Parts: sequence; structure tokens; C-alpha cells
Amino acid sequence: MFLKIEDIGPGGLEVREPVAAGVLASWLGEDGIYRVEGDGTVELRADCVGRDILVKGRLAAPLTAECSRCLKEIELYADVAFTVLFAERSAFEPVREETGDDGGQQFFSGPVIELEDTLRDELVLSLPMVPRCSEDCRGLCPLCGVNLNEGACGCAAVETPMAAALRVNKRKSSS
Ligand SMILES: [Zn+2]
Ligand SMILES: [Zn+2]
Repeated sequence: MFLKIEDIGPGGLEVREPVAAGVLASWLGEDGIYRVEGDGTVELRADCVGRDILVKGRLAAPLTAECSRCLKEIELYADVAFTVLFAERSAFEPVREETGDDGGQQFFSGPVIELEDTLRDELVLSLPMVPRCSEDCRGLCPLCGVNLNEGACGCAAVETPMAAALRVNKRKSSS
């Protein structure tokens, strides 16, 4: 996705465009954690700030993933807000060291700004490395594989040696 500098007038430029599911999938990687369920959308506004271009917008994408604990399929509608200042850099200027990964500033030269890398990074960085269906997902029982969010299994009654030792100690101290 490109922004033409000449299209950004004194009143700024507003853009709303679909992002094809195939493009989203290529950003997230073939066998990544996340699957793309349809086209996404990008909505943004670009304004000239001196010779720089300030781009503010949102990227939305329908995704699914497997909960890392209970393996249930979860829907994750990604909705990422981003703000990036593109500073003009002429082709003859030496490449400045880009400042770490604060992501707030990037460079462009020539008549267009290429947004694809920016959008991809914003999306990828917004997604949790380890998706979960909920903060307190109980996961699967390691013994019988039952989804513990749906109820306890019989295995909980089986005492581990550690639990047994604690119980004995407790009885000793209370008598
Ligand atoms: Zn889960
Ligand atoms: Zn169990």
C-alpha cells in the first residue's frame, strides 16, 4: 500500500482500503500461530508536518488462533492503532542510524511512502506471542487431557507426593 506525497494536500489525506486476506497471511507467516479468516481494513489519515508526513490510523484484521493452554480455537479480531512520522531523507544523505525499535519514526524518499512494512510490523507486534482464550485459562489436565475450563476431572483427587507431604506436616503442626 502506497501513499502519494502529492495527494496529501493542506487538509491532509484520508484513506480507507481493504487489505486482502492473502496479504495479511503473508505478513503473519505460513505456519504461524495465527490464521487469517478474511480481508482486513486499513483506515488512516496523513498530514504534512513541515517536510515530514504524519500518518495515523488503524488496521483491523479477523484472525483466529489456538489457545496455548487448552487448544480451543479463539477469535482474535486484531484492531491496531498506529502513529508514524515519516521523515524525508534524500537519496544522497548518508543513512542515519535508526533509533532502536521505538517505531515512531521512519524515513521516506521520493514521491511515495510505502506502508506495507509499517502495517506488517504494527500487526505482528500487537499480537501476543502466546495466545490464550482467557487470562485464567485452566488448560488441559496433564493426566487425562480433559479441558479443565469445562469442569474438573477425576485426576484432581489423586494426590501428588508433595501434596501428601504437606498434608502430613499440617496435621503434625496443628495437633
Ligand atoms: Zn484456553
Ligand atoms: Zn484429568
